[in-house]
Formats: sequence, structure tokens, C-alpha cells
Amino acid sequence: MAELAIAGGVVTRGQAFPARRTMGEAEKQAVVEVMDSGVLSGFFGSPGPHWLGGSKVQEFERKWAEKYGFAHAISVNSWTTGLMTAVGAIGISPGDEVIVSPYTMSASATAILFYGGIPVFADIDPDTFNISAATIERCISPRTKAIMVVHIFGQAADMDPIVELARRHQLKVIEDAAQAPGVYYKGKPVGAIGDIGGFSLNYHKHIHTGEGGMLVTNDDQLALRCQLIRNHAENLVEFQQVEDLSNMIGSNYRLTELQAAIGCAQLDRLDDCLLHRRRLAAYFGAQLAGIDGLTAAKVADGAEHAYYLYPVKYDAKITGIPRNAFIKAVNAELPAPEVWEQTGWAEAYVRPLYLAPLYQKKIALGPKGFPWSMNPGVEYSYQKGICPVVERMYDEELIFTPLMREPLLESDIDDFVAAIKKVLSNKAELQSL
Ligand SMILES: *Cc1c(COP(=O)(O)O)cnc(C)c1O
Repeated sequence: MAELAIAGGVVTRGQAFPARRTMGEAEKQAVVEVMDSGVLSGFFGSPGPHWLGGSKVQEFERKWAEKYGFAHAISVNSWTTGLMTAVGAIGISPGDEVIVSPYTMSASATAILFYGGIPVFADIDPDTFNISAATIERCISPRTKAIMVVHIFGQAADMDPIVELARRHQLKVIEDAAQAPGVYYKGKPVGAIGDIGGFSLNYHKHIHTGEGGMLVTNDDQLALRCQLIRNHAENLVEFQQVEDLSNMIGSNYRLTELQAAIGCAQLDRLDDCLLHRRRLAAYFGAQLAGIDGLTAAKVADGAEHAYYLYPVKYDAKITGIPRNAFIKAVNAELPAPEVWEQTGWAEAYVRPLYLAPLYQKKIALGPKGFPWSMNPGVEYSYQKGICPVVERMYDEELIFTPLMREPLLESDIDDFVAAIKKVLSNKAELQSL
């Protein structure tokens, strides 16, 4: 008789993990109010009282800024456009280098390219998966203008040494905190520990407005430049007395009143969401501590973790089971996911960004090698091997789960742990398949 589900045995759990449902009565009510008003967007792309958006957009921004003590919060229609706005606002010019992690969603790096900046990839710390002052420093050149720090999986990067390094070299710091809303680092909220940063509000993130993003900064001038880029800067610069016209070509990155109204209600849920995730993560981490070959997510001193995803380091030499076979066998013990968030284990996270054709062929804007062509004689290497830790995580060690989330309970995590233990204790059967 087979034991493991993947070999034809009985599954550990048949009942689907509850889906993530983050919308409630408050959001419904908020949407109805906006519908009744008839004003689904309050923006005008021209001088006047409405160039900063309608009442819900401004309320959402005020609410976000006040909750965390940011001087400014500026909503945008996605965090990808938010990252582009931040890169433009800090004044990145064609040929400027920006240091970024390769272990992140692709937009952290492409936002740089949209202004002709050149992404230079720094390796990650093997415990936190974030870039660090040590890995960043090796990438600094006379052409470096900024650092894009990503708080990956929801854990705050070690910001103090990074900001100190940046100040020493007169570099700007952007924080991609898409996966870390409401996270603190040594008592400071991430997002504006550097110069500017922000959060994603897409459907998969902790709280969402369908699509959307929120920029935050404590710098008045950067805030103004962001507000301008978001909304047709070219039409507004004279009226806002902007002297530096570089990158003051605007776009339309405006959030709607409907989304902003939903966002206000969602923000009220964020603290509970983080508490819930941290509770499950602590519970799961304690059980992982007793399992050889799986090392629980390590949270660095002074950092908080939002557990957008829960990362684990997998050692196939200890378990005796190849990573992919382990993932498949555990997931076979669990119900098939209908939506991504019901997945048990996944492996590798994203391929190191520099291995994508865009970087391998150095074809970004047009076919002629721009922006790399801005710096003739400078060799930019995106070869395999430039960031060995990222490649090791991607190729061998990293596994992660999206299950440390609301509305799952400890009993759901128990089933997940039982599936893991069952696979590990039936290694011989798995090897015989
Ligand atoms: C989600 C995400 C983004 C992009 O956000 P969108 O709102 O989907 O545009 C950027 N960076 C990271 C790290 C993300 O997780």
C-alpha cells in the first residue's frame, strides 16, 4: 500500500485552504458612496484645485501619511508606475547607474530603464534575501546615482548601513516596499527611510485596490515632482514654480476615486492582517525548527517581517530529496489550489532578473543598445555567475509558501506541517517512484 499521495496513497488534507477574501462591508459601502456621487475620478490634468485629485484620493493619501508619520503619501495607479515616478523624481538621467536587487519582481529594475538608467545588480544576503551595504558597495562606480532597495518577501532590509553608504557617496535611496506595507525597521516605517519609496496595492498584496500603489517621502520637493509626473507635469510646471525641468514630462498614473475609497477601508485592515500573518509565521517557524533540512525564515535584529511570502531554505543534502520532488510530493498531499494563494510550497521565486533576454541581449528602448550605449567603453556584465547567492537560492535552496496569511488558522498550518513530515518520513517510497 502506498503511503504518499503522489504514489497513490491517501492525501493528508482534502479540503481546500480557505481563499483570501479581503473585501468586506466597509469597502462595499465606500464604493456605493462614490457611485452615488457620480464622480469616479476627481483629477484634472491642468492648473486648478483638482490637479491633486478628488476628495477620496486626497483622503486616502492623508490617511496613509498620518498613520505612519510620512510627510507625504502620493497615490498612483500601480506600484510599477510608482517606481517609475520615484526614479523620475530623483532625477535619473540616461546613462546613470542604479544599484538594485536581481531577486525581485521585474519592475524594480525596469522602472530604472524607463528613464534611461542602467540597472546594476547587487547580490543578496543569504539569510534575509535582501541586498546589503556590503553587496551594494562593490557595485558603486563614478556613474552610480541611486540604490533601489527591495524589502523582499516583506522583511525590512538593513537600512541604516545602506543609507549611511548612500550619503557617503551622495546616492539617492528608493525603497521598493511593495511586499512590506506597515513594516518597521528600528522604529521607523519602511518606505521613506531612504529618500522615497512605496507600496503596491495590486490584488495579491496585503491590502489592495485591484491595482494601485502609494508613494511615500518626507522630502517636499520630491513629493511635488511625483505629483507632477503622476499627472501631466508639462502642463503644470509653470504654475507650481518648478525650476528643474528634468524629467518633468508627466503621464497619467492617477488612481480613481473608487479605488481610493476602497483603499481607505483596506488601510484600516492592515494592522490585523500583519498580526495574523505574524502569528501564523511564528507558529509555523516553531514547528520547522524541529525538521532537519528546512531552515525557517530568519528575521534580522531591528527588522520586521510582513510575510507576504514565507521563505525557507531547503537543503536536499540533508533531506535526501531533490527540491522539486519534495515540493511536488508535499503539494500532492494537499488540495489542488484554485487560486495562487492556496498553493502549499513553491520553489526558486523569480529567476535572477539579469538572466532575462532584455539584459542578456541589452535591448531595452529601441534596438540599438540604449541605455547601455550611453556609456561607451564601460562593460556591463549580466553573465550567469555575477550574483552567486541569488543564483544558489534560485537554483537550489529557496522554497516558499503563501499560506501564512489570513484567514488560515493554526489548524490549517498543522495540516501543512503534517504533509511535510509525511513526505520526509517516506523518503524511500519517493525515491522508488
Ligand atoms: C508587486 C510588486 C511590484 C509591482 O507592483 P504593481 O502594483 O503590481 O505594479 C514591484 N515590486 C515588487 C517587489 C512587487 O512585489
